[in-house]
Amino acid sequence: IDFGFRQVPREAKEGLVGQVFSSVASSYDIMNDLMSGGLHRLWKDRLVESLRPFPGQEHLDVAGGTGDVAFRVLRAVRAAEVEERMAAAKAGRTSGTGRRAGWGPGPSSSSSASPATPSPSPEAASAAGPGPGSDASSSSSSGVGAAAAAGRSAAGSGSSGSSGLLSPGRVVVCDINPDMLRVGQQKAAAAHDLAGDSGLSFVEGNAEALPFPDASFDSYTIAFGIRNVTDRPAALREALRVLKPGGRFLCMEFSRVTQPGLREAYELYSFAVIPRLGGLVAQDSSSYQYLVESIKQFPDQETFARMVEDAGFRGVTYENLTAGVVAIHSGFKL
Ligand code: SAM
Repeated sequence: IDFGFRQVPREAKEGLVGQVFSSVASSYDIMNDLMSGGLHRLWKDRLVESLRPFPGQEHLDVAGGTGDVAFRVLRAVRAAEVEERMAAAKAGRTSGTGRRAGWGPGPSSSSSASPATPSPSPEAASAAGPGPGSDASSSSSSGVGAAAAAGRSAAGSGSSGSSGLLSPGRVVVCDINPDMLRVGQQKAAAAHDLAGDSGLSFVEGNAEALPFPDASFDSYTIAFGIRNVTDRPAALREALRVLKPGGRFLCMEFSRVTQPGLREAYELYSFAVIPRLGGLVAQDSSSYQYLVESIKQFPDQETFARMVEDAGFRGVTYENLTAGVVAIHSGFKL
């Protein structure tokens, strides 16, 4: 396969990406562990920690593949709901408060429709310390503070209504590749805590033209997916469209290593080791050659932050993990 995909027509790139992920689907999880030495698990944990899942959250994980991120989000949402029910029981209430924590305003909020549960602000979350592998070099583009605060307020307006009954959250895994989705569905069916959960669904769809109505979700994640998308500005605009006002966008992607020395070592490892590993374990070195080339061609942290802003997100920030091997970009729909 010729991986000079930047020169090939759009349909050809989509076809190549499709072939790559169909080919690697069955060995995708084990290859992730091998290639990253298990680090991808810590990066994904950090992504979900940054999301700060809350009771009743409606979440979309695009390019969700075999479900790694979606499963983590759903487990965290369910844990938040259990906590909410226990707090309600302790307070002598028969049901939940109907409150949605999210990124909503704190206890001093005067919002009467849906008072938000006190929840740590993004600033407080950062102050609590960086996650695993984080080099704590979070950076941001312009106008972050005010916009993020406005985003939190808007997100707090989501509510399950005045009845006090909190509807359970849901997580949708959306991916263009049915083979990756199939592996994800098998994993969910085998997981005792996910198997019977009707809040988890798998939908085949393209990030560039999502099969969901406007303002459907509280939050959107895309992990190691956007670099595979042909028209990235279109995918970012779609993310904005399907989010509710105040909704949160998080994108985790390989990025630029910030430390000289480490950068060269990482490149050597990527180009010399990963395709060979792919050949040995997945019997497919070409697909892994594509993966490392697509990482090298992906825009750096600042450039991608501008793309997220250009799509219409506000309060855009990013956090480097493992010296910038990976970055998490965050933005709000205001
Ligand atoms: N998010 C998962 C994870 O972190 O393990 C899977 C990441 S995998 C490297 C990239 C995924 O992006 C593949 O499952 C692929 O099918 C999907 N993908 C590629 N292009 C896409 C598109 N245009 N729309 C939706 N998904 C896409």
